[in-house]
Amino acid sequence: MSLSGGCQCGAVRFRVDGQSNGQGVGRASICHCRMCQKAFAGPFGALVTVKVADLTWTRGAPAHFQSSDQIRRGFCATCGTPLTFDWSADRIDLAVFAFDAPSAVAPVVQLARESRAPWIDHVADLPVRPSAGPPSEITSRQHPDRDT
Ligand SMILES: [Zn+2]
Repeated sequence: MSLSGGCQCGAVRFRVDGQSNGQGVGRASICHCRMCQKAFAGPFGALVTVKVADLTWTRGAPAHFQSSDQIRRGFCATCGTPLTFDWSADRIDLAVFAFDAPSAVAPVVQLARESRAPWIDHVADLPVRPSAGPPSEITSRQHPDRDT
């Protein structure tokens, strides 16, 4: 079994093979720390660890920003999608929502909870605005959630 994913524009694509826990990925987490918030420009980073040996870049490769002396973060240089958190020689974290089927990589633990956005605990309580239906006048350039 393998899991695939990539950036929004499709210039960078990856595949995770291996059977380390039946699907090649470790325990996924969300991290509320300020560096993950900034790197993802979102309320938290959602990351999952895989073995570097199980990871193949099937199209392109990430560019990197050295976000600290310990960590570099990979992203698509064309569209900016965050892709990796590089912290080890033999393991690497991939951005959960970059996977084609992110629901298959559900987080099971949260980190740096003290840094969470103050509203994050109440997201499910927010009022829901009805969807306006499928947009008819835009042409998406987002890469589909599959290899092409
Ligand atoms: Zn891209």
